Amino acid sequence: MIRNPVTRRLTHAALAVAFWLTAFPAAGATTETSQSGPAQAHPGKADPRTETVLIRNTTVIDGTGAAPQPGVDLLIRGDRIEAIGESLQASEGARILDGTGKFVVPGLIDTHVHLQFPIVFQLSPEEKTVVVDHTPKAFLYNGVTTVLNVSAANEWILPRREAQRNGELVAPTIYALGESFKPVDGWGSRHGGALEDAAAARRMALELVDADVDGFKLIIEDGLGSQGTHVEMPDDMLQAIAEVASENGMPLYSHAINLHEYHRAVDIGSRAIIHGLEDPIPEGDTLIEELIEGGITVVPTASLFESFLHPDPAAGLELQDPVLEKTLPGFLLQRMRDPDYMAEEKRLFSQASNMDAYTWAESRLPVFRENITRLHEAGVKLAVGTDGGGTVGYNYQGYNTPWELKILVECGLTPMEALVAATRNGAEVIGIDNEVGTVETGKLADLLILTANPLDDIENIRRIEWIIQQGQPHPRDEFAFQP
Ligand SMILES: [Zn+2]
Repeated sequence: MIRNPVTRRLTHAALAVAFWLTAFPAAGATTETSQSGPAQAHPGKADPRTETVLIRNTTVIDGTGAAPQPGVDLLIRGDRIEAIGESLQASEGARILDGTGKFVVPGLIDTHVHLQFPIVFQLSPEEKTVVVDHTPKAFLYNGVTTVLNVSAANEWILPRREAQRNGELVAPTIYALGESFKPVDGWGSRHGGALEDAAAARRMALELVDADVDGFKLIIEDGLGSQGTHVEMPDDMLQAIAEVASENGMPLYSHAINLHEYHRAVDIGSRAIIHGLEDPIPEGDTLIEELIEGGITVVPTASLFESFLHPDPAAGLELQDPVLEKTLPGFLLQRMRDPDYMAEEKRLFSQASNMDAYTWAESRLPVFRENITRLHEAGVKLAVGTDGGGTVGYNYQGYNTPWELKILVECGLTPMEALVAATRNGAEVIGIDNEVGTVETGKLADLLILTANPLDDIENIRRIEWIIQQGQPHPRDEFAFQP
């Protein structure tokens, strides 16, 4: 079966329709028509497909980079934005939200997550389940309405992607790459599924196409940076995967960190490189031109590398930020406040990476930041991803997504540019920019209502009052951790 991005988008549109037909399985209404389905399943409640929400007198920052639109109304019907303008009329029964003094932005898109990872090593199986089960809500609580899960066993992630689409799992909209490609003894092989040779890679690629994943993730890296503690992906393996991808319209997402790996990721036509660059770009190197020519987006995951060493300063020295407290299960936060516990975490991660990962991170941080500045100034497109949940330190899922925006601003992006990176650019990385990522008529209503202007201070992206997911407004506390 030959695919291209257009047919893949149509597949998603069809799934969105299927969502409404199957969203209320409790009433056995899986085959109901659009007239009777949800109304029967939720007697006395308005039909969510035609329900209208009117946000009155607000400022829209639409995620395209265009100037804010103050004093406008925003009308949502069902899951779509129907109109943006002055003094809009809503039908009777519409839900009215007062947007006075508030700011409507697109929901954030995190293009590098691992919903399956529990942040730390030292948890009992029961505790791990609590953490992992809560993770999707941790993203919503922090304003992330779409995620790209870049590696997880197919049998783990694909049912969750399906459950989210069916309305059975409270979660951001999940896109999933399934299992990642890595050679035997390659980086990430400790998570299983490592490949013997190019033929095995080709078989796996075809299986992933059949499983209808949203793209391929390739781990090119041979260990953190240029340390070479693991096996780098051989060239014939890389080519085999790229070939199946190109035959089937599958975008490639490359995990690369150093200059050599970056060039390999560029050469196979990656859609995005999902880590920052640890090497200075030498005089005369053509990397930047090639990234721009190839339309390749870089997802720097800067907060990941920082989180090896410290949490987002917003968390506070005692990890006492109330937002963090509502993001994480209390028992986990309590332990992460203990320096001895964190020292053991770091020892375990260094053991898993066969090197002193923390000395490495500390030495590379300035270069990661310089490269963000340099790539951005040269016109390379950046998007937001956190690698949330990976066991490296203070790598909080959901909570770290706004931190990533803040680091982008520290590296020279304007707050507006950081917001675009986290919304429209993220949608482009996943290939869903015709559906979400900007506040525009006809698009899915995945929105945040903020109580302060994120363009004044990007930290205000955390001042969330409402999370609107596919047209349904949720007060933020609905997604707070409940013990
Ligand atoms: Zn990752």
